[in-house]
Amino acid sequence: MLKMIELPYPLTALEPYYSRETLEIHYKTLYKGYVDNTNKTEEKLQKARTENNFSNIKCLEKDLSFFGSGAILHELFFENMGPAMPTTPSVELMQQIIKDFGSYDAFKNQFTEASKVVEASGWCILALVPQWNKLEILQCEKHQNLTLWGCNPLLVLDMWEHSYFLQYKANRGEYITAFWNIVNWNIANKRFQDR
Ligand code: MN
Repeated sequence: MLKMIELPYPLTALEPYYSRETLEIHYKTLYKGYVDNTNKTEEKLQKARTENNFSNIKCLEKDLSFFGSGAILHELFFENMGPAMPTTPSVELMQQIIKDFGSYDAFKNQFTEASKVVEASGWCILALVPQWNKLEILQCEKHQNLTLWGCNPLLVLDMWEHSYFLQYKANRGEYITAFWNIVNWNIANKRFQDR
């Protein structure tokens, strides 16, 4: 049974860049929905196996991918933010960023621009692709589409409207600019180190 992660900071901790109101709805209602629905889907899969009745299997497999990916990405998202603080990529991660993107600024520019044009609801993701020992920036649609298999997300940004519309309306650019102030690079560094 999947459990919700604890939010690693108080609901007001990301202000003014990410409002308490947005964070509260996002964490308590929307994220909870993904965790609950992942668990419900797992129960239905268990029931299907027990009863050897797979008439609904296509729908269940889709639900598993959608709700499960939604739960995982929200965990990564909440954890890779933190109260505005001057964290930076570690020496190791910075070396990899420079190797793969040319410079930190080039990485940040690509991530920012890719985030702005995520189609409909989705995510922007800095990921390590272990098979290539290479960092890539991915635009994910919904929670599960447009990935590279086996990649490890290091830093994720929720580009669903629910993540910014209350505070930033349709101005994705302002939301992304604000996000850079509350990135917790210590977490991205750890994910990179644990790869
Ligand atoms: Mn979200």
